[in-house]
Amino acid sequence: MYDYDFFVIGAGSGGVRASRMAATYGAKVGLAEDYRVGGTCVIRGCVPKKLFVYASEYSGHFKDAEGFGWDKAVPSFDWKTLKSNKDTEIDRLEGLYGKNLDNHDVEIIKARGKLIDRHTIELTDENGVRTVTADKILIATGAWPSYPDIPGIEHAVSSNEVFEFEDLPRRITVVGGGYIAVEFAGIFNGLGVETSLLYRGEEILRGFDLEIRAKLREEMIKKGIDTRIHTNVTEIKKSGDQFLLSLSDGNEMVTDCVMYATGRRPNSTGIGLEELGVEMRDNGEIIVDEYYKTNVDNIFAVGDVTGGMQLTPIAIKEGAALAATQFDDNETIVNYDYIPTAIFSQPPIGTVGMSEEDAREKYGDDLKVFRSEYKSMKFTLAGRDERSLIKLLVDGVTDKVVGAHMIGPDSAEIIQGIAIALKMGATKAQFDDTVAVHPSSAEEFVLMK
Ligand code: NDP
Repeated sequence: MYDYDFFVIGAGSGGVRASRMAATYGAKVGLAEDYRVGGTCVIRGCVPKKLFVYASEYSGHFKDAEGFGWDKAVPSFDWKTLKSNKDTEIDRLEGLYGKNLDNHDVEIIKARGKLIDRHTIELTDENGVRTVTADKILIATGAWPSYPDIPGIEHAVSSNEVFEFEDLPRRITVVGGGYIAVEFAGIFNGLGVETSLLYRGEEILRGFDLEIRAKLREEMIKKGIDTRIHTNVTEIKKSGDQFLLSLSDGNEMVTDCVMYATGRRPNSTGIGLEELGVEMRDNGEIIVDEYYKTNVDNIFAVGDVTGGMQLTPIAIKEGAALAATQFDDNETIVNYDYIPTAIFSQPPIGTVGMSEEDAREKYGDDLKVFRSEYKSMKFTLAGRDERSLIKLLVDGVTDKVVGAHMIGPDSAEIIQGIAIALKMGATKAQFDDTVAVHPSSAEEFVLMK
């Protein structure tokens, strides 16, 4: 007899959903977390990031307002107010998560969990160490920012620290060209920080549609972000309150803060997995089957710790599927086709399905590309020099839409509905047959000829 039917290590998106659903199905569930309930997404990821994005967009809104007849009024910005309000909101959400778990009789244990054997978990907190046992165990420990090994890297911060900044720097250099780098470059720039973004490759946001990537870089440059490609940092030196960066192109850069956003590594070490022989890839990702089972058959893993697309909704779906399979006698697998995603850059990007490059490789000359580039109505009176781009990629043989991409205001909101259509296998003819919502940006999706 075990203490728990199901024990979860990590109270992030995947762990919370799996534990709550398992408890709903009648399992006795324990959940260990050594930081805060909610994980990266709620505490220092998606949620506070989006609040910061909203805050940073106001500088643009104030300027736009003049074109609509509002007096020139550029209010001053106070970081401490934003941070304090953000902290209050995150505390509130953490409280809700905790309450929700309590209501479902999930026992939350504020301790660090480590596997001792395949059914025993060691729990360490400030009061000491104890062990508990469980029939089934889930590792949902997420991922952690990773940094390249260059001289002076200890001077760099990640997005984790940005959420706790007491003051905003005057200048910042962001290294990386992925989701976090472009999102934070937009936040800093909007809040008035002199911002540079350095990306080592040919074009930011590798893996996304090339034209959309190029468009974002163009718009970032227009907004005043010093966005450089083919540029990496080779050394960071501290000099008083400043940092001197040696760059791969031979140049140097002086800045007040260096933020790295160069990917995240699974949190899979130091929790007893190697000792138990749980199989992992070289980069620390836990290997699981389609039911999230590791090679040790009562140990499971979901979310970022398993690699794949490191996205909150994926971890949540995996956690729910695992709970249904193990505790509701309902074998459930997650369908990873047509996963929509949004990048909260400025302008934002919404995307689902194949990039033009991938579609071209698959469909060759049968691929049909529809594109519409336009200025948002709001920006006409505002006089803002920002253009949007929408693309639809269609398999010419079946007429099926295989990719939809948008960069421009509201694209995150719009792409969610488009994703349903793609997931259902919608054809271009069905898009065309849909009546437009006028006047809107979204209508471009059904008006492309
Ligand atoms: P990403 O994997 O998105 O991007 C990492 C970036 O760092 C890439 O541009 C990569 O370049 C670059 N890089 C990697 N190693 C080095 C190095 N040694 N030196 C210089 N540059 C390097 O990671 P992020 O950290 O931006 O985000 C982590 C994950 O979090 C994302 O993949 C995403 O899944 C998730 N996320 C999702 C968000 C959303 O849904 N809106 C928001 C934020 C995060 P290269 O392309 O050349 O490899």
